[in-house]
Amino acid sequence: MYYSTHLVAGAAAGIMAESPAEGFVLGVLTHVILDLIPHHDHESVTTCILDCVLGTAVFLAVIAVFHPEMKIIWGALGGVLPDIEIAMYHFRLIRKRVFPSHTGCIPHLSTTRMRGLIMQSLVIVLGLWILS
Ligand SMILES: [Zn+2]
Repeated sequence: MYYSTHLVAGAAAGIMAESPAEGFVLGVLTHVILDLIPHHDHESVTTCILDCVLGTAVFLAVIAVFHPEMKIIWGALGGVLPDIEIAMYHFRLIRKRVFPSHTGCIPHLSTTRMRGLIMQSLVIVLGLWILS
């Protein structure tokens, strides 16, 4: 899934947590669950970087304006951090991936671009609804 999708889903999980640590764990769990749902991933580094930069900019703006609880911030971080290893692997900073949905231990399912966009849009809308 896209960075922004994992970010919103992790934040939405964090709002349900009792603590920042629990928010982080729930955020990581959303990453596993979202990777199980058939989706579409970025096909180029450019769109991936745009997604990460814009997603982070919007997230930082939301933090600056609304001052969300730490459990929401940690949930969002838990949602996106597993994909750091994807970037590190792509740029050959690490030799193998270890996160279960990236190694194949847990299936990482894909679908067409259109279905993937629809699925990720639904996840983002649901996440924003939970956060609102
Ligand atoms: Zn992932």
